[in-house]
Amino acid sequence: MGTSLLNNVFLTKKPIFRSYILPSHSIRIMTNSTQDIICAISSPPGVGAIALIRLSGENCISLVNGVFSKEILHAKGYSIHFGNIIKNDQTLDEVLVTIFRNPHSFTGEESVEIACHGSIFIQQEIISLLIDNGARMSEPGEFSKRAFYNGKMDLTQTEAIADLIHSESEGAHKLAMQQMKGGISKELHSLREELIKFAALVELELDFAEEDVEFADRIQLIELVKNVLSKVNRLKDSFQLGSAIKGGVNVAIVGKPNAGKSSWLNALSNDEVAIVSDIAGTTRDKIEVPLLLEGIKFRFIDTAGLRETEDIIEGMGVVKAKEVISKAGMVVYMFDIAEIGHHYLDDAITYVKELNTSAEILLLANKVDTAKESLGFYGLEYGHYSNLHLVSSLQSESIEFIKKEIVRLFHQNQKQTGDIIVTNARHYEALKNASVDLEKSLLGLENNLSGDFVAMDIRQVIHHLGSITGEITQDNLLGHIFKNFCIGK
Ligand code: GDP
Repeated sequence: MGTSLLNNVFLTKKPIFRSYILPSHSIRIMTNSTQDIICAISSPPGVGAIALIRLSGENCISLVNGVFSKEILHAKGYSIHFGNIIKNDQTLDEVLVTIFRNPHSFTGEESVEIACHGSIFIQQEIISLLIDNGARMSEPGEFSKRAFYNGKMDLTQTEAIADLIHSESEGAHKLAMQQMKGGISKELHSLREELIKFAALVELELDFAEEDVEFADRIQLIELVKNVLSKVNRLKDSFQLGSAIKGGVNVAIVGKPNAGKSSWLNALSNDEVAIVSDIAGTTRDKIEVPLLLEGIKFRFIDTAGLRETEDIIEGMGVVKAKEVISKAGMVVYMFDIAEIGHHYLDDAITYVKELNTSAEILLLANKVDTAKESLGFYGLEYGHYSNLHLVSSLQSESIEFIKKEIVRLFHQNQKQTGDIIVTNARHYEALKNASVDLEKSLLGLENNLSGDFVAMDIRQVIHHLGSITGEITQDNLLGHIFKNFCIGK
């Protein structure tokens, strides 16, 4: 974009400002779009029934035409062609070739997909044939990078593809889909647009400094910044929930030996994962069971208990238990209903809280089946604890109840968020920075600071928000993002 056009947009005589405040639709740094034809195997490595080889770049249809038994030079976009891949007059494989015409492809470039049989030999032979004919192996994430450079999607959407591929639960899948459809981009776009208008007005005033005019009503501006700040903070706060849904929630199961932790974990997973015995200290290390509950991935980790021990191996287990607790999103503290009084329980809660201040604690008084006559007594004894339940690892109703309780506690522990949930640490970082600079500009406005300073802070906010979607991006950041993609994506 030429400088004169920018001048028109920002109505400012100060060139130093112009490099930052850009209308969001105008920026995509087209520095890395090459004309090379890239190719890669896009299906998972190894043998499969079918494998997919992808090519992208100008003239890739002509390249494939040269090694294919059918004429596809003038084939329409989205058409599929059955034929043979030929090497030295020999048929390498029977394949299906799909044609994508520029710009109607994933990358926005002319592209071809070859569905071949999934033998490793065939895949490698076809790839080397394509390379011999002028293609080159793609770098990790290069297809997505081209899609970004060609304006097919913004950065959050390309990042969402990686999340979608790695999603392991309904919750993670839903969030990745939301991001891929541009959920967060739309939200950020409108916030950025509002700030750009605001910054333009403040900067317009700077141009008329001698006349002492005020184009931007300060009261309205304060309202606007407050509004954007609350939206940015809401997005920022949703990251805790987003990262838990994306990565899974660690649930540490702790308690004295013989409380019934392993039995409960077995029942929970319907599998004999932990060794159950009535000799105290059976679980010497940690046992991990991943489980999907109502679309959220939980990782239940049984530990060696909290008891101090002289047994070296068991002692190592206790050290691990502490580590597991400190990193958990939730702690289930289980105890034998008959064995523990509330003094012990208070000590245990304090112990857990010292290791982890933010985790929710679920207290389970186990083996209630052995104490049916004393239920009234125990009800009184433990009645004042929140999140305490009388359960039995041997009863399936108890197990189902606790599963629901765990999901309920998980949601209860999350801050209220809107529809858009942030899952990406890079986005979170940028939102945090935007929030700090919004606070600064609010303070500046409330203290009648000069427009220069306020505009400077707002420019920073616009920059942070733009860096999320890639509207303002440095090449080294892009390099870092795409290098974590796999080849063929
Ligand atoms: P851990 O050391 O905490 O993992 O405890 P275990 O799961 O190994 O259980 C210790 C003993 O308690 C075993 O003999 C279990 O069968 C028994 N047990 C566990 N849960 C219950 C329960 O709810 N009711 C009864 N009656 N026994 C249980």
